[in-house]
Amino acid sequence: MKSNENHESEKMMKAFTLTAPGFAQIVDLPKPERKSEYSAILSPIAMSICTSDVNTVYGSGSKKPDNLILGHECIAKVVEIGTGVYDFKVGDIVAVPAMTPDWRAVAIQEGNTLHAKVPFSANALGRSVPGEFAEYFLIEDADTTLAKIPPNVEITDALMCVDMVTTGFTGVEAAEICFGDTVVVLGIGAVGLMAIQGAALQGAGQIIAVGSRKVSIPLAKEYGANIVYNHKIENITQRVLEQTNGIGADVVLICGGDDTVFSQAIDMVRYGIGRVVNLKHFAGEGNIGIPKFSSGRGMSGKTIKMELGKGGRARMERLLALVKYHRIHPGKMVTHTLYGFDSLLEALEMMREKGEDLIKIQIIPEWA
Ligand code: ZN
Repeated sequence: MKSNENHESEKMMKAFTLTAPGFAQIVDLPKPERKSEYSAILSPIAMSICTSDVNTVYGSGSKKPDNLILGHECIAKVVEIGTGVYDFKVGDIVAVPAMTPDWRAVAIQEGNTLHAKVPFSANALGRSVPGEFAEYFLIEDADTTLAKIPPNVEITDALMCVDMVTTGFTGVEAAEICFGDTVVVLGIGAVGLMAIQGAALQGAGQIIAVGSRKVSIPLAKEYGANIVYNHKIENITQRVLEQTNGIGADVVLICGGDDTVFSQAIDMVRYGIGRVVNLKHFAGEGNIGIPKFSSGRGMSGKTIKMELGKGGRARMERLLALVKYHRIHPGKMVTHTLYGFDSLLEALEMMREKGEDLIKIQIIPEWA
């Protein structure tokens, strides 16, 4: 019944792998081996495909290692630990954050957790080092990375914390949302929905969401949006200015849209104290524009930040506490559950096509 037990005696395992640009396949690869006493081997029990997996496979980004194992969103079981791992034992069920800062890097002491060694050094799993979509995967530093799942927290909720919640909430934190702020969230995919939830928790007044995905609209409202505008049929900038008596929003969080969304955000944010925070991946080459007029010829006092979700154990423990005490319910974003490791292939295509009824997919492997 359990394919990973069948493989137990062998040195090989199944892995969902980028075999060539544009091609992801399930192949047999050697099982990972621990490198240091701080490391651990884990086995995923619930996985989620991310838009950035789609970008890794089909995008035009940086050169990827050969036979890169994909995946950076999972809940896993600890199967092997080094002698220097103190807080986890074999059998523990843990959340594995998508971002894995190297807490021993010097730049961490300067607060630079995500780009401590090289740009995006914390954004490594499934991009520059083997990811989680395999029977087994390696985590280099278990004690600083993993977070135990509290007993009353559902796996599906925890699974959404590892990337979607932390990313959306990182935007909210970067925007320094104050009580009563008017917040616009552009995009109502999973990150946008979590930005809405985070903004509401952080004390936003009016929350205006922008998007058209039918399945997301009720959830956007449930998480805290007062209004949802459809960018396909409305002039969003105009509507936001009308809704704020012409002064614009205090905060705009970019969580979706095309390349023009960046200049739109600057158009609709307030002079003097407005903050634009970007959480979106802008694919391809070229520039994203800053409009001369609405940026006040560069003197508008509008702040622009560009963020990637925070990672690490303490971050995950804090997000799981929000689930545990019923402040957030991110598992509602999981619209589809697929069973069997091989269904990752189907899940990747579903995520690429993004049907109107889809927000997030969870994949439960046969050994879970
Ligand atoms: Zn992700």
